[in-house]
Amino acid sequence: MKSKNIKALQHLLSTPKNVVIIPHKNPDGDAMGSSLGWMHFLNKNNHTASVIVPNPYPYFLKWIPGDETVICFETNENKALERLEEADVICTLDFNSLERIELLGEHVDNHTATKIMIDHHRDPQDYADLQFSEPEIGSTCELVYQIIESLSALEQIDNAIATSLYVGMLTDSGSFRFPSVTPKTHRIVAHLIECGANPAAIYNQIYNTSNVNRLQLLGQALNNLKVLPEYHAAFMTLSQEELRKFNFQKGDTEGFVNYALTIEGVKLAVIMIEDKSEQYVKLSLRSSGNFSVNEMAKKHFQGGGHINAAGGKNDGTIDDTVQKFITLLPQYQKSLQSS
Ligand code: 5GP
Ligand code: MN
Repeated sequence: MKSKNIKALQHLLSTPKNVVIIPHKNPDGDAMGSSLGWMHFLNKNNHTASVIVPNPYPYFLKWIPGDETVICFETNENKALERLEEADVICTLDFNSLERIELLGEHVDNHTATKIMIDHHRDPQDYADLQFSEPEIGSTCELVYQIIESLSALEQIDNAIATSLYVGMLTDSGSFRFPSVTPKTHRIVAHLIECGANPAAIYNQIYNTSNVNRLQLLGQALNNLKVLPEYHAAFMTLSQEELRKFNFQKGDTEGFVNYALTIEGVKLAVIMIEDKSEQYVKLSLRSSGNFSVNEMAKKHFQGGGHINAAGGKNDGTIDDTVQKFITLLPQYQKSLQSS
C-alpha cells in the first residue's frame, strides 16, 4: 500500500466526515462485508458513515452487523439520493469502474465529494481522488483490514468489524482455498476470530441456509451442463423459465458455476443466466491455472474481474450467448491447453 495514500487518508479522516459507502451492483459477501466493516470503523472514529447499495442483495447476507441501516438505491431512491447529497466523502468498495453501479454511477461522478476507491479488481478506472487498488489481495475485506492496520488502528477492531470483514474473506477465497490465500490471509483471519468473529456461525449463515427449490435449481443447472473436452471447457445455462419454475430468489445461483470446474480436465467454466428483462444474459466465468477469464470477460462480454473469476453480459438470448461462447473457444484452445 502506498504510504502517500495512507497519509492522505489519515489527513482526510482527521476531522469528522459525512461518508457514503457504495459497493457494486448485485453485492456479494465481499462487497457487503467490506462496506459494513468500513462503515463500523468510520463510525467508531467520529465520522457519520452509511452504506448505499445500488440494488438488493441475497438473503444469506442480510444478517451482517449493521445490515438494518443499509439504504437501497433501487427500492428507496429518494432516501438514497438525500443521503448521498449530504456526503463529503464517497467510498466505492469492491469495484473499480462506475459502470458497475449503473445509474448510481452518474450521481457519484457528478458529486463534489472526495472519492475513495477501495478495491482488488484488475484495471481500475480513473474516477477516484484517492485510489486503493490492490489486485494481488484476495478480497476487499482483507484490503480494508490492511488499511486499518496501516492507520495503526487494529486495536479498534471489535466484534462488528471482525464479523463483517470475515464474511468477504470467507466468500471471496472460496472458503480459504483459492490461490489468492496467503499466510497473511490466515494471520488476519486468526486476528478477526480473536476479535470476536465466529467462523462456524458465519459459515452457517452463508452456506447452510439453502432450501429445496434452490437445490432443485442447481439440479436443473447441472442437467443443462455441457462439457467440451477438446477445449477444457464446460458451461451451464439457466433460462428465465427455469428460474421461475424453481421460485428463484436473488443469490440462489451463487456458486453453481464452480461445480463445472470440479470436472477433471476442465479449466474454464461458465454459467449463463438469462436476465429478467430477457434482453441479455449474465455470465459468470471461472478458471483454474493461469487462463485469464478477466481478459475473456473484458474483451467479449462487457465485463471483467480477476484472473480466475470474472463476470460479464451478452445482449441477446441464451442460444446466442452459447453460440458466441463456442465460437470463441478455438482462439483460446492453445492457452487453455497450456494453462
Ligand atoms: P460473479 O461471477 O460471482 O458474479 O463475479 C465474479 C467476479 O467478477 C467478481 O469479482 C465480480 O465483482 C466480477 N464481475 C461480475 N460481473 C461483472 C461485470 O459485469 N463487470 C465487471 N467488470 N466485473 C464483474
Ligand atoms: Mn471482492
